[in-house]
Amino acid sequence: MDDIYHGEKIAALNDRIEFENYIASEGKSLQTESFRVRDPASGERITELRIADDSVVTTAVESSKSAFESTWGALSRSERSNRLLEWVEVLEEHEDELATIESLDTGKPISQAREEVREAIECLEYYAKVCVTVSGETVDDQSAHIYTRYEPFGLVGAIVPWNFPLVIASWKLGPALAAGNAVVIKPSEKAPLSITRAAQLSADVLPPGTINVVHGPGTPTGETLVSRPDVRKVSFTGSLETGKNVMRTAANTVSPVTLELGGKSPMVVFSDADMEKVVGAVAGSVFHNAGQTCDAYSRVLVHEDRHDEFVERLVARAEDLQVGDPLDPDTEIGPLIDGERHEAVQSHVDRAIESGATPARYPDETSLPSNYFPPTVLDEVATESRISQEEVFGPVEVITSFESYDQAIELANRTKYGLAAAVGTEDMELAHRAARDIDAGSVYINYSGPNPLGAPFGGYEQSGVGRELSRDAILDYMNEKSIYQPIRENY
Ligand code: NAD
Repeated sequence: MDDIYHGEKIAALNDRIEFENYIASEGKSLQTESFRVRDPASGERITELRIADDSVVTTAVESSKSAFESTWGALSRSERSNRLLEWVEVLEEHEDELATIESLDTGKPISQAREEVREAIECLEYYAKVCVTVSGETVDDQSAHIYTRYEPFGLVGAIVPWNFPLVIASWKLGPALAAGNAVVIKPSEKAPLSITRAAQLSADVLPPGTINVVHGPGTPTGETLVSRPDVRKVSFTGSLETGKNVMRTAANTVSPVTLELGGKSPMVVFSDADMEKVVGAVAGSVFHNAGQTCDAYSRVLVHEDRHDEFVERLVARAEDLQVGDPLDPDTEIGPLIDGERHEAVQSHVDRAIESGATPARYPDETSLPSNYFPPTVLDEVATESRISQEEVFGPVEVITSFESYDQAIELANRTKYGLAAAVGTEDMELAHRAARDIDAGSVYINYSGPNPLGAPFGGYEQSGVGRELSRDAILDYMNEKSIYQPIRENY
């Protein structure tokens, strides 16, 4: 594959858009330290952004607090819903632009970036409609009239990773804004551009400060945001270790947290499975986004009777994948996000092979530009090995065989994570039994693909706290208040 050059596309983007910290509807030119944002495919510099330090984060928090108190938080819910739907319309007019930005910034194939921009817009639209349906309840009590109200927290701090920037931002901005909160959002320093652009596109429809965007690494920017007492709810998606840090920091101000963390999701392939469906589901999961997906089926547990056939078919599927320039509409796999990730994936694979895993597919990658990792399949991988227990976050499948149902479930559950799992079988009674027995927030049957709106998404065990995407997720961004009035008997 030839080296990739995106210079003209990048220049055209920079001619039109200034990606800066976005506070009170304005790009902020700051004098703080800066960091580079690079195109993972070509290695070219896309832009340089200023780090939001303590004082910039404080300004953003004050601006959002004031938006909540004076404008956004004062709107009726139908006015709020209408404003959000107007933002959706503006975003729809810019879908192509947002997809190009997302693809350049993350290295994900443009076809995938287009799907994600659509998904993000639909999520915002969904919560804009959900917000008018929220209602409290009355509590039947003999001696009092009691009713409840849901009220926004005021100010939400949202922290987002680089693997699906706009989609994950929408999972937070959608319910948080629809609930009536203002939001300060910190995108990942590795892929901050689509979120910045989406926020800029709200300028004509949402009051200044309703969404503020602060740029920079976890420390100082993310940590400072979480630590601010005015941030009354924290919504975080990222790695397990960072999630623990966020939870600790939020404990200082007793802010509730939603945490969407990592996973090591298994697909269990039973002996009667339809191999076409199963291989499609596995390849569509672990090779999607070059494997940089929190709920990727990154372990396959396959019944020993179907093991050889499964490995052969998955390897054939991996061979067929189109690795290439992310901006080429035919590309199915782009680069990893950066050299650091490449090194981590490489060392996971090398270590697994040294410990006895069989490389069923591990092609020489020297013909690929740096940051690209080829779709890889490792067989006969021990369940206790690091590669079976830790997130690899690259296009690498690890395969283990099993003999019995009980063994399959035991192996599936033997990790600290519990984000997702999949089951491959044509026997629906078996499928639902396995779905019941596997400890995971989502279980997919013969399927992988986008998470539908309305279906709760989130983890068991160390994969997280709380659920996103569900109708009720909006309530995670609201306080519930009970109001009492005694009923007088002695009239
Ligand atoms: P990360 O934890 O390194 O960073 C996530 C975000 O947290 C970034 O914006 C980062 O700047 C910020 N951050 C870092 N330290 C911080 C701190 N101390 N305080 C506040 N913010 C801080 O994760 P990543 O590498 O960007 O993303 C990959 C991880 O995200 C994987 O583990 C993946 O499984 C997970 N993920 C989970 C889901 C889900 O829905 N469960 C979805 C996507 C990604």
